[in-house]
Amino acid sequence: MSTLRQALAQSVFSHAALVPSNDLPDICWLDPAAARPRSLLILAAAGPEFWRHCSTAQSDPVDQLATNAALAMAESLSLCGFLLYPAADAPLDLVAVMRHLGWVSGRSPLGMALSSEYGSYIAMRAVFGVVEAVELQVHGVASSKDTCIDCAAPCVDACPAGAPSIERGFDIGACASVRRQTNNPCQQACLARLACPAGAPYRYDDAQIVHHHTASRWFDAL
Ligand code: SF4
Ligand code: SF4
Repeated sequence: MSTLRQALAQSVFSHAALVPSNDLPDICWLDPAAARPRSLLILAAAGPEFWRHCSTAQSDPVDQLATNAALAMAESLSLCGFLLYPAADAPLDLVAVMRHLGWVSGRSPLGMALSSEYGSYIAMRAVFGVVEAVELQVHGVASSKDTCIDCAAPCVDACPAGAPSIERGFDIGACASVRRQTNNPCQQACLARLACPAGAPYRYDDAQIVHHHTASRWFDAL
C-alpha cells in the first residue's frame, strides 16, 4: 500500500490531504447538520500540468480526469468510500476547505482566495469520502501569506466592469452585466485575472484558461 506522499508524487495532483471529517470546521460544510463521512481524501491541482493530462476529446475533461485519478489514488491507499466531488451536490465549501488546509489564503479583489505560490492557478479537483478513521496528513506547498497585501492591484484597472475592488471585494453583478453583452472583451478569459501577477510561473495554458472561463454561462442566471 502506498503512503499518501508516494501516491501524491505519482499522481496528477499537487496537493493532497487525509482529514478526519470532524477536524473540518462547520464553515467548510454547506449543511453543518448533515451526515458526514468519517474522513476525507482531499485533492487539489496547481499550475498547468493537470490540464496537460486531460483528454480534451471528452466533454468535461477536468472533472473526468479528476474523478479517475482520485479513485485510482483511493484504491492505491486501500481507502474504502465514495467520491463527493466532482459532483453538483458536493456538501463542502471547497474554498473554505482549501483555506482551512492552508493551500490558499486571504480574500482577493477577484473574489477568490489566492495561493502565495500559485496565485489563482490552484483549484480543488476531487474529494473522496472515506468510511474509516484516518490520521491527519497534509501535503503540498502551503500559501504563506495574503498575496494581495503588497500588490498595486492591476486586477482592478484591468476589469471593464469595475467588478474587483479592494474595499468591497468582487461585484459579481457588475461582471455578469459585461459578460452578457455581445462582443464583450471577456469572452475568452477574465482580463482582471490575467492581469494578476500572482503565481505567474504557474499560469494555466491558454486552452485551460478558455475552458474554465467558457465552461458555463452562470451569469445568465443572475
Ligand atoms: S470577466 Fe471581465 S467583467 Fe468579469 S471580472 Fe473578469 S475582467 Fe471583469
Ligand atoms: S492583482 Fe494583486 S490585488 Fe489583484 S488579485 Fe492579484 S495579487 Fe491580489
